[in-house]
Amino acid sequence: MDDQNQLKHAIDGRRDDLIALTQDLIRIPTLNPPGDCYREVCEYLDRRLRKTGFQTELIRAFGTPGDSDKYPRWNIVARREGGTTGDCVHFNSHTDVVEVGSGWTKDPFGGELSDGKIYGRGACDMKGGLAASIIAAEAFLEVHPKFAGAIEISGTADEESGGYGGVAYLAEQGYFDPKRVQHVIIPEPLNKDRVCLGHRGGWWAEIETFGEIAHGSMPFLGDCAVRHMGAVLTEFEDKLYPAMAARTTDMPVVPEGARSSTMNINSIHGGQPEQPDDYTGLPAHCVPDSCRIVIDRRFLAEENVDEVRGEVKALLEGLKESRDRFEYDMREINVVLPSMTDRNAPVVQTIAAEIEKVLGKPAEFVASPGTYDQKHIDRIGKLKNCIAYGPGILELAHKPDEYIGVDDMVDSAQVMAGALVKILT
Ligand SMILES: [Zn+2]
Repeated sequence: MDDQNQLKHAIDGRRDDLIALTQDLIRIPTLNPPGDCYREVCEYLDRRLRKTGFQTELIRAFGTPGDSDKYPRWNIVARREGGTTGDCVHFNSHTDVVEVGSGWTKDPFGGELSDGKIYGRGACDMKGGLAASIIAAEAFLEVHPKFAGAIEISGTADEESGGYGGVAYLAEQGYFDPKRVQHVIIPEPLNKDRVCLGHRGGWWAEIETFGEIAHGSMPFLGDCAVRHMGAVLTEFEDKLYPAMAARTTDMPVVPEGARSSTMNINSIHGGQPEQPDDYTGLPAHCVPDSCRIVIDRRFLAEENVDEVRGEVKALLEGLKESRDRFEYDMREINVVLPSMTDRNAPVVQTIAAEIEKVLGKPAEFVASPGTYDQKHIDRIGKLKNCIAYGPGILELAHKPDEYIGVDDMVDSAQVMAGALVKILT
């Protein structure tokens, strides 16, 4: 048997193990928020990976957002050294999953296998990818017990809430120093035949307009903050949205609609707070003196965040000129810069070649509309040779009845194991 067949054999032989591993991971409900069961999932991975000869470290991201004794932010980094020096390939998966939401017909934490699919919250995003990378590493180690360099597998917290208690923390501690790690593969669900090079940027801000409270029967004695916000939204509709739609990127973002700049108005609130559903009283008659929105602006590699910020600020300043009594405040909530790995980077080329070998068709190069942990590996770790590659259908992430296809996991494990052979032998 040649090398590739031996590897295929080793992975096919682990199919049941791959299914059981994915089911076990789904059955640990690592909901974020609040950040449940991080310790439990790390301990599970610790037992599993130590059995295969990995050295493991459990690392708590003390003091990061959300970290507390009740909800500690635990991460695991496992490393297996080869016999001789060489590059280190690191597989990074987040262990957290988003809230369940409604509309499920399957048990979200049951890990049910039916028709070649495993169902559950996090099946596709991204416990299936984590399981595939573990199986890929274990199969590789069976076929190539002697290799050069090292393999690392990490399970990290909080990706769904920004990654500050996970990859960002590890990057700050030097875990993604290019002297230590040379290739990073993040098995996010971007489909098994695509290499994801990076992601767009994001800028989040809260805008508040102010008014003056008065009796609702005499609004002319006050100043309505909601009407001021209406003027802001009209500016956005008339000027900002058309300007954003006209900008397109050379980044291969999927889906197509995300190749332009976009902005979501995340929330709007003005006037009296909403009352609980069981409140039966009538509203008091007041002119609202405050209205707030949160905006979620996604920008392209060709834009810079100062321009993005400045564009919104200019519209607000313009209203100050043109609109009587217009006052506002803008508070930045978060910034994520775009990240994009070069198409010729070694990890890109290696995975692309393996995709073609395993699936019999050329790999597609894509970029993600939303951000993921690559940003921290790039910006904090200064490690550029990083991609997302993993099984699972992107559009299923965060949806009810999320699932991962077993064949897709097997195929992508094949691709990952092939990449280990290329880089480490
Ligand atoms: Zn994810």
